Amino acid sequence: MKNIDQYNLKDKRVIVRVDFNVPLNEKFEITDDTRIRAAIPTVKKILSAGGSVILMSHLGRPKDGPTDKYSLRHLLNDLEGKLGMKVQFANDCIGEEATEKAAALKPGEVLLLENLRFYKEEEKGDENFAKKLALLADVYVNDAFGTAHRAHASTAIIARFFPGASLFGYLMQDEVSSLEKVTKNPDRPLTAVLGGAKVSGKIEIINNLLDKVDNLIIGGGMMFTFIKAMGGQVGNSLVEDDLLETAKAAINKAKTLGVNLYIPTDTVIADSFSNEANQQTVAANSIPDGWMGLDIGHETIMTFTEVILNSRTILWNGPMGVFEFVNFAQGTRDIALAIVKATSSGTFSLVGGGDSVAAVNKYDLADKVSYVSTGGGAMLEYIEGKELPGVKAIQEGI
Ligand code: AMP
Repeated sequence: MKNIDQYNLKDKRVIVRVDFNVPLNEKFEITDDTRIRAAIPTVKKILSAGGSVILMSHLGRPKDGPTDKYSLRHLLNDLEGKLGMKVQFANDCIGEEATEKAAALKPGEVLLLENLRFYKEEEKGDENFAKKLALLADVYVNDAFGTAHRAHASTAIIARFFPGASLFGYLMQDEVSSLEKVTKNPDRPLTAVLGGAKVSGKIEIINNLLDKVDNLIIGGGMMFTFIKAMGGQVGNSLVEDDLLETAKAAINKAKTLGVNLYIPTDTVIADSFSNEANQQTVAANSIPDGWMGLDIGHETIMTFTEVILNSRTILWNGPMGVFEFVNFAQGTRDIALAIVKATSSGTFSLVGGGDSVAAVNKYDLADKVSYVSTGGGAMLEYIEGKELPGVKAIQEGI
């Protein structure tokens, strides 16, 4: 992988695609700056190597061109604080002002361009628009893993204009190498822990992972579609009847490939979808009518924990139950703790995709797993086995 450490950036103008798509409140204050923080090491490295930096990003989903609500100007103060320096701003990402300001940049200086999505050409992957951006710089760096699954002008197409000079930023490099560690030649046993609400969003993930893993653990709401497919009684639990055949096919595929498929044997059930509901633990395939499974049970936690502790590589996506309700969060918390324990004895653990990231953050465990992915959609597409255009563009440009 060609990254910013492997290129002489001295006196180069470097255009960096970052993911500054941060949430803002009505006063335009940033409510979660994770994505800006994640890009800082790359920017600092380019500056210390003697280059100048032109930052480009999207923010929100502007429909009709420039709108103050989606202006990247709102991020300027925060960015200046984090970099400890003045950052210049161009009111348009292409055109005269951007061209002049980019041309005047001296080594060590930073210019932030206005929102790329003020142009429809960005999402269309328009080559001419990509070329206009490319003309601002000598080197292209992609550090926006969150949009790596999109073939937009600034995330993929632009690399064509930088033959031999398209590079991964540190965030992108870390994300891709963590995913490769899991999917290409992992230390075995390799275990995937899948949870979350539904099977429907995860069919391709399940199918692709079955070809790779030694153990597949299923928890969360999606377990009930599997249990019903095996003839179990799931009461009022979340179930997708149209996917029973799909679940059966996955169970058969696991058998054929010799993958150990772990489906919960007990579940904590509730008489309503509420934290205050009455609860009891029952066999996962004998849930009485009127009750629904909202967490995995103690016996299941013990089984899953043992599998996790015997794994050398772990991928975790999706909570084991409705962890937003404290009374049904134990399964998710205990599985997170098991992954942490495995990690402390040398297992590589990657957590990614929406709610499992929320869970490790909630239990303050993010720094106790090997890697927490920042790119929900991009990471899920990668584990579905899809090629990410943002990654491919750089790999092919080398
Ligand atoms: P996903 O976005 O598919 O990863 O789903 C995450 C959501 O699944 C969380 O909001 C959980 O509350 C929910 N979830 C997990 N287990 C269950 C369950 N047994 N019944 C209903 N929802 C669940």
